[in-house]
Amino acid sequence: MHPNTNQVASNAQHLLKSHQLRLTDMRVKVLDLFMARAQALSQNDLEQELGKVDRITLYRTLRTFEEQGLIHKAMDGTDKQKYALCQHDCGQGTHHDHHAHFHCDTCGKTICVEEIAAPVITPPLGFAVSETHLVIRGRCDVCQ
Ligand SMILES: [Zn+2]
Ligand SMILES: [Zn+2]
Ligand SMILES: [Zn+2]
Repeated sequence: MHPNTNQVASNAQHLLKSHQLRLTDMRVKVLDLFMARAQALSQNDLEQELGKVDRITLYRTLRTFEEQGLIHKAMDGTDKQKYALCQHDCGQGTHHDHHAHFHCDTCGKTICVEEIAAPVITPPLGFAVSETHLVIRGRCDVCQ
C-alpha cells in the first residue's frame, strides 16, 4: 500500500473515533476522500470516486457526518448540494463553519474560505434566520 494512502486512512479512522462513530468501510472511504480532495464534494462526486456503492448507505453516511460535525453544507450558488470537511471542533448538532465558500465557474470546484466569515444578519422584524450563506464566485488559482 502507498504510504500516503495509509496515512490518510489512519487519519480518517482517528477522526471517526474522536466523534464516537463506529468504523465502517463506507465511512472510512468517504472520509478519506474528503481529506484527500480538500474541496467540497457532492453525493454524485463521491459516487463517481467510489465506484459501485449503495446510494442509500452513502446518503445516510453523509447525513450522519453532518449531524456529528464532521462535514458541513457548502452552498456555492449552484443546484448541487455539496459538503466540505469541518475544520473546527464541530460536534453533534453544533457547527462553527460560518465562513464563505468560493466557487470556480470554470472548473466547478468549491472550497471553504475560512478567513472570510459570513456576516451576522439582523433579519427584518418578525423574520427568523435559519441559514446564511456567503458565496464567492469567480476563477480559482488553477483556472486563472
Ligand atoms: Zn462543522
Ligand atoms: Zn477552477
Ligand atoms: Zn466550508
